[in-house]
Amino acid sequence: MNKGLILKTFIRARYFHKFKSRRRLEKYQQKQTKKQLDFFEHHSPYFQKFSGKTFEELPYMNKKVMMDNFDRMNTAGISKDDALKLAINSEKSRDFSEKLNGYSVGLSSGTSGHRGVFVLSDIEIATWVGGMMAKMLPKGKIFGTKVAFFLRADNNLYESSNSKILKFEFFDILKPMEQNIIKLQEFQPTILVAPPSVLLILAETAKVKKLSINPVRIISVAEVLTEKDEQYLKRVFKQKIIYQVYQCTEGFLGYTCEYGSLHLNEDVVVVEKEYLDDTRFTPVITDFVRTTQPIVKYRLNDILVEDRRPCKCGTSMTRLKKIEGRMDDVFEFDGVNDRTIKVFPDFISRVVLYVPKIKNYRVVQESSKKVIFYLDNIDIENQRLIKEELKTLAKRMRFKMPATTFKKYESDFSKKMKRVERIKK
Ligand SMILES: [Zn+2]
Repeated sequence: MNKGLILKTFIRARYFHKFKSRRRLEKYQQKQTKKQLDFFEHHSPYFQKFSGKTFEELPYMNKKVMMDNFDRMNTAGISKDDALKLAINSEKSRDFSEKLNGYSVGLSSGTSGHRGVFVLSDIEIATWVGGMMAKMLPKGKIFGTKVAFFLRADNNLYESSNSKILKFEFFDILKPMEQNIIKLQEFQPTILVAPPSVLLILAETAKVKKLSINPVRIISVAEVLTEKDEQYLKRVFKQKIIYQVYQCTEGFLGYTCEYGSLHLNEDVVVVEKEYLDDTRFTPVITDFVRTTQPIVKYRLNDILVEDRRPCKCGTSMTRLKKIEGRMDDVFEFDGVNDRTIKVFPDFISRVVLYVPKIKNYRVVQESSKKVIFYLDNIDIENQRLIKEELKTLAKRMRFKMPATTFKKYESDFSKKMKRVERIKK
């Protein structure tokens, strides 16, 4: 691993690239984007055909476009077939150290059927690690930091490493949780990084005194952190803030600052906002740091909620109220006057949140006429209250009340946890 580059990126992101002025940030973005596009015109066969076009004139892309044009788009001359083959073999053998022409390859844990693959150079990984550390490590002394990192291993980005300054231990979510808990107890992390579904299990274990750790910082990754889960984690682990990393295959996109606000990483990506209503938008991103796999005007599937108030940390990078979920998971119901009514995940969560005594839940829409509620407590009274709430929502938004089914909630670590999910058939 390129330690010099990690340190350089770390220092730049932590101490210099604060971007308190929006105008300066935008100027910087324009300059970097132009450099990036010049590079792609010369090194990506796909982008050659857009030679001479301005940023505004370039077409939008998404995961499908990227995968369909993978071979011609990446600047490393790697074919999708080779990349997929290596990524799938690594997944099977659980050995992620093998590289392709010197590049790391990973599968993206896509939920919507499109299997994605990504390639990263060592330089990009070092930059990513440096940028991530700059934004996520607590201020003040870093010496002696011990990071426990829970995730589904799907690439070799994450290797346990030990130095005097930073100990980094990796926990495979797919291993039995009892084993991980014993290892975690021994490790005693100062920073705990995990998806909310795992953090909740750890919190429950800590609550019954079967785990005793005192992290100074907790970082939620990979899944949507709901407000209710956030409050619970704060209480159990005695934290003022639960930090979040907004990260996907397409890059490191956002982070929680010292004042508890989520910000977009506009020092490494340009984010265009396609508004869905007053504050909700889907982001279209252009990464001006990664050069192996171009991410240019790439439409993500996420729903973000903007918070237009300035943040006390002083950065001009966009502040988010929350990450609400995926566009795929917007529920669709039959309207009373034959139109399709779209309902954002947040409204669906609220149907459950108003009902007391429920900690774990999932709501799955199977068709416009059928919704399944998975609850940790499915007594008759809870079922009645939830139906009541859903009816109120249906009336307000003018859709036909769907059939409801209630089932027992179970954790499943082999998949990303989604509180609200629409299954397409
Ligand atoms: Zn802030």
